[in-house]
Amino acid sequence: MSKEIVNLEPLAVWENFYKLTQVPRPSKKEEKIQSFMMDFGKSLGLVTEKDKVGNILIRKPATPGMENRKGVVFQGHLDMVPQKNNSTVHDFEKDPIDAWIDGEWVRARGTTLGADNGIGVACAMAVLQSKTLVHGPLEALFTCDEETGMTGAFGLQPNWLNGDILLNMDSEEEGELYVGCAGGINADIEFEYDEVIIPEDVTPFKLVVSGLKGGHSGLDINLGRGNANKLIVRFLKHATRELDVRLAEINGGGMRNAIPREAYAVVLVPTDNISLLKKAVLRYESIYKNELGAVEPTLTFTVEEAEVPKSLIEERVQDDIIDAIYGCPNGVIRMSDGMPGMVETSTNLSTIKSSKGVIFVKCLLRSSVDTAKDDLVEQVDSVFALGGAMVSFDGGYPGWKPNMDSEILAQMKEIYLKKFGRTPAVMGIHAGLECGILGAVYPNWDMISFGPTMRSPHSPDERVNIPSVLKFWDFLVEILKNIPVK
Ligand SMILES: [Zn+2]
Repeated sequence: MSKEIVNLEPLAVWENFYKLTQVPRPSKKEEKIQSFMMDFGKSLGLVTEKDKVGNILIRKPATPGMENRKGVVFQGHLDMVPQKNNSTVHDFEKDPIDAWIDGEWVRARGTTLGADNGIGVACAMAVLQSKTLVHGPLEALFTCDEETGMTGAFGLQPNWLNGDILLNMDSEEEGELYVGCAGGINADIEFEYDEVIIPEDVTPFKLVVSGLKGGHSGLDINLGRGNANKLIVRFLKHATRELDVRLAEINGGGMRNAIPREAYAVVLVPTDNISLLKKAVLRYESIYKNELGAVEPTLTFTVEEAEVPKSLIEERVQDDIIDAIYGCPNGVIRMSDGMPGMVETSTNLSTIKSSKGVIFVKCLLRSSVDTAKDDLVEQVDSVFALGGAMVSFDGGYPGWKPNMDSEILAQMKEIYLKKFGRTPAVMGIHAGLECGILGAVYPNWDMISFGPTMRSPHSPDERVNIPSVLKFWDFLVEILKNIPVK
């Protein structure tokens, strides 16, 4: 059963990984894994500490002759995402994970495997245990609750760690080195409006944008996909101005971190203008398809009859909302200078919802450059403030600006090339990683995120590639030998 994984190479890594599968550790229920880790560090006679939020730090001194090297901090998170198939009986707070070997992969029976980030943690444990590896001063930082709030990263205190180089082991593709990520912040906008009585001689219609691909608001923001909220508002600007259409209701998108796939508006049209409205919808649909069809082949924009709404949005606020949403920046704002192909700054106008005298609008702003994010905050604030809305920002977290002159990056590229005969890919990710938050607390850290190859993390299909673990380990051992002198 599960035990067979301990015979995989490298033995020390898989033995530790097996032990981790035996300790329940769903996010926010991490007491068991924390005490397991405390015992692990102490049993090796290493300085082992836990901070107030639940992060664990184990320090291991340099091996003889390596004391003058820069300090390395290994970092991984102890929690895992608890997902299971409907048919699987499993209590993530009590039951061990049943890992098994499926060809080149290790996966779990019916549940997430917890290779995210158990395999990184197991590698760090193997280094801490080793009596033969050569390395400078080491610290292993095991953070808590990465998956549901990055509580550990946010709670990390300054002046606790002494290292100079952070090796985060939570990436999912062997042969890729991550050197940057985006920070983010939420914008919440509210327009208040008076509900106005429906006039005579108007007919209600529902306008619907649908069939868009949507996607992740960070990772997919550079794909040129349509934003349903933006498309519906673009039409409303035309229809309110040219056809005396009045807005009763508007609703688009859902989750803040998803590009909105659908949006609708309920409008009232002067009876004389109905045929013009229908023609205009057809025209705008062909405009949208012309502009976006290559990326959004199933996009549709339609008009259908609707029930008479209870009230209208007062005209002044209606026009302000349309102007502000129309003017609000959306999509990629700037690409990274240092890292070709990486988005530096973006925003996603994710949600619009009218309800009982209030229209709520939500955006998610991201940047790997914190001052660029601040600038975008002011842009979004300005456009909605001009429209008379109340604007607030919360949930902000810092990004990690790629440093292409990083010493450890150059070193790791060289080692990888020598060892494996090719240059590793250097990447940035336009989404949040713990590194962004940790690096803001320790601005001196030279940081890299890497890891073995994994597929479908956060799902019961999660699996980790066995040969990539061995390769990752060999690379890690070589890096430790070659850490620059302080
Ligand atoms: Zn992870």
